[in-house]
Amino acid sequence: MSIVVLQLPSVKRKNETRPKKCPYCSGETFQRWGKVSKPVRDNRYRSVQVYRYRCCHCRRTFRHYPTGVDRADQTQRMRKLAAICWMLGMSLRGVELVLPAFGVRLSHMSVWRDIQEQAKQLGKRRHWQGVRVLGLDGAYVQGWGKKQPVLVAVDLGSGQPVALGYVNEHDPRAVRRFLEPLVKRLGVSVIVTDDLASYRVVAEKLDVEQQICQFHLRRWVGRSLYELRETVPKQWHWVLDEVKALLDELPPEGSKRLFELWKQIPERRVGQSGTRSPLEQLRYLLIRLSEHWASYRVFDWQKEVPWTNNGTEQAIGRMKMRSRTVRGYKSWPGMQAALMLSGSALSW
Ligand SMILES: [Zn+2]
Repeated sequence: MSIVVLQLPSVKRKNETRPKKCPYCSGETFQRWGKVSKPVRDNRYRSVQVYRYRCCHCRRTFRHYPTGVDRADQTQRMRKLAAICWMLGMSLRGVELVLPAFGVRLSHMSVWRDIQEQAKQLGKRRHWQGVRVLGLDGAYVQGWGKKQPVLVAVDLGSGQPVALGYVNEHDPRAVRRFLEPLVKRLGVSVIVTDDLASYRVVAEKLDVEQQICQFHLRRWVGRSLYELRETVPKQWHWVLDEVKALLDELPPEGSKRLFELWKQIPERRVGQSGTRSPLEQLRYLLIRLSEHWASYRVFDWQKEVPWTNNGTEQAIGRMKMRSRTVRGYKSWPGMQAALMLSGSALSW
């Protein structure tokens, strides 16, 4: 998980250095061509000095801005501050209300634009960093009038979200469309997920290792064992105990052992009603766990693979909190960018 670093860019009143390159032709010699006072929105300065230069090569003129200033009227420091306030949990209106304490007034729409700009910058930086272990989890975020299913992909090395899409996690084809470009672009070799069939299918197709979140696994297996204890004949209760012990310890040979247990339980035809008998249910549980065993214990032999999907769930928690305050901001790309930013552990 990243460390919280709230470092704001510095802003200079005027530029002490001369430009190095012409922005048009990359020429390297200039004449000073006057100076202007540029009004800015900043917590320290009302205006900054901007020199204009003329390129001796192409003869075009351009402005050479001091550190922390560009064409925008807000300084880079203020844009970042607005985005950080929002990431820390304020609503857009809340940021609008708090910034005057720094001597700056911004409309909530400007704040919204600042947030999206920061998200884009963060996205660019992430684009080039490879991701070895990717956490995936579905969630619902408040969209336009209704809850929308989304799929979130998180770099479990850094704890940062890398992608967010309108994808139903139960649909293997949609999951594959979402995941395939990520796997190729980022070089993903392990995914961490819940125990859903859709992820299993896609992991196989894309040839990546899959680690099942142990919290999720233990929850559903624990529930199944609890129910079976009520229904399975007493003479088979030792099997339930052994399954629980195997799950607790996750030994490498667990798959083989579960398969042996499966063979010991007599097979019975499904009754005419079509429902499985309790013993049949137990057999099904044994064979399923045996077949999937490898995906429960990837963390044991692959470096830096966590045994739960906790990092992904945390990022989603942060996004959900924020999605309530960005309802109504029209475009999906804008909302997506903002949610990506809010899902990040704070670091700049
Ligand atoms: Zn030039």
